[in-house]
Amino acid sequence: MSVTARSQREHLSWGRTPRLRPARVVRPAWTSDVPAALAAAAASGQRVLAYGQGRSYGDACLNEGGTLVDTQNLDRFLYFDPESGVLRAESGVTLAQILALVVPHGWFLPVTPGTKYVTLGGAVANDVHGKNHHAAGTFGRFVTRLALARSTGEVLELTPDDDLFRATVAGLGLTGLILWVEIRLHPIASDQIEGRSTKFSTLAEFFALSEAASARSPYVVSWIDTLRPEGRGLLMEGDHAPDGGLPEPGVSPPAARLAVPVDAPGWALSRPTVRAFNAAYYGRQRAKAVETRGHYEPFFYPLDAVRDWNRGYGRRGFFQYQFVVPFADGDAAVREILGRLAASGEGSFLAVLKTFGDVPSPGLMSFPRPGVTLALDLPNRGERTVRLLRGCDEIVRQSGGAVYPAKDACMTPESFRTFFPQWEAFAEHLDPAFSSSFWRRVTGEAASRH
Ligand SMILES: Cc1cc2nc3c(=O)[nH]c(=O)nc-3n(C[C@H](O)[C@H](O)[C@H](O)COP(=O)(O)OP(=O)(O)OC[C@H]3O[C@@H](n4cnc5c(N)ncnc54)[C@H](O)[C@@H]3O)c2cc1C
Repeated sequence: MSVTARSQREHLSWGRTPRLRPARVVRPAWTSDVPAALAAAAASGQRVLAYGQGRSYGDACLNEGGTLVDTQNLDRFLYFDPESGVLRAESGVTLAQILALVVPHGWFLPVTPGTKYVTLGGAVANDVHGKNHHAAGTFGRFVTRLALARSTGEVLELTPDDDLFRATVAGLGLTGLILWVEIRLHPIASDQIEGRSTKFSTLAEFFALSEAASARSPYVVSWIDTLRPEGRGLLMEGDHAPDGGLPEPGVSPPAARLAVPVDAPGWALSRPTVRAFNAAYYGRQRAKAVETRGHYEPFFYPLDAVRDWNRGYGRRGFFQYQFVVPFADGDAAVREILGRLAASGEGSFLAVLKTFGDVPSPGLMSFPRPGVTLALDLPNRGERTVRLLRGCDEIVRQSGGAVYPAKDACMTPESFRTFFPQWEAFAEHLDPAFSSSFWRRVTGEAASRH
């Protein structure tokens, strides 16, 4: 196991704000090293937290002044049955590694977020969702078993019948360190996705299109122009094609060809740039609807094509903001939030609108719930942006919705308690040595145990 005060990896979150540094980073080489690492941190009084690929945006993966256990080396496959599609792997294995192994055998991830560079541990700890939430629910639904190391030195094997399993799925990394995860994969006949892209010019049109698309397609997602509060955008739907072939084992899709090598200057993502990008993106499709077909990579992971794209927001980083509001209030709440964004002059390139279905999540603290969800990026302009987002939180609270902790850096303790009223029941399952900067921010818990 290697121990470093500071390491080559920066151990920031994807939004690169807030910049909260751990006091120590440990990188176990083997899962069998983990219990001792946790025990040592617990004995020192320092709070512990697992760190995957840092693809959370705010402070859910940060542990200022504490110990981060980086799972980068816990990257081994333990079991894969190409007949049944059952896979077991260490928690630091990424979804990208899983796809490279299983797609040639006719299997796919049952649920995938918008980047494949997240770890299995991170996918479980945030109970991530994908474009198929309305049909499949969250990632945690496909986890059949996992191993959890606690700071007492115990390693527990948990199944969906265990209360601690339900607390660990969407448990924000606070119930212990997940050592390995077993999942059920989804069968596919090819690596192609076929579907349709349809333009909409109002939110009402989006809701009608989305309902029809969700009834026929397992994957549905929309891009929306945040500088136009009436809600124009493009709705993309699709499914795995029945033909088109599978890659040979060992042949992975090409890695990102483009990269943002340094932090961009602050003006790079200014309002005129966003306006020009959005107009071009909306305008590039002339027809109302077009049939689409292509490799799964650009359909599921368009942003992965540009390595380190998060540096495009400059040194101050950016906030990502994702909320869900129930259908009853969806139109009004989304309209009001888009109106506030447009009035503030803060445009977002990457605004994603979709609906969540009612498939229940196994996680006690899972974020998705039936309704409409909007995710967007905003450059960090300090207090001004925080005020804007807290104002949006207020609208979400009044609508009975919630904000996604995996993408949050701003919510107040009051908002957190309203979004997740079950948090006290969840807190009974926490490992006392574990904590995060997010958890301390929203609960006021002390940083040190001594
Ligand atoms: C471009 C992009 C698109 C995204 N799209 C989506 C999306 O569509 N849907 C969605 O739900 N999310 C999405 N996300 C968010 C991302 O999927 C989650 O934040 C995910 O949890 C990140 O995984 P990670 O491995 O990077 O974990 P980190 O960000 O490093 O950590 C996240 C949490 O997991 C915990 N954790 C990590 N490993 C372990 C472990 N072994 N044991 C216990 N706890 C652990 C950490 O303590 C922390 O609380 C997106 C992120 C990006 C950058």
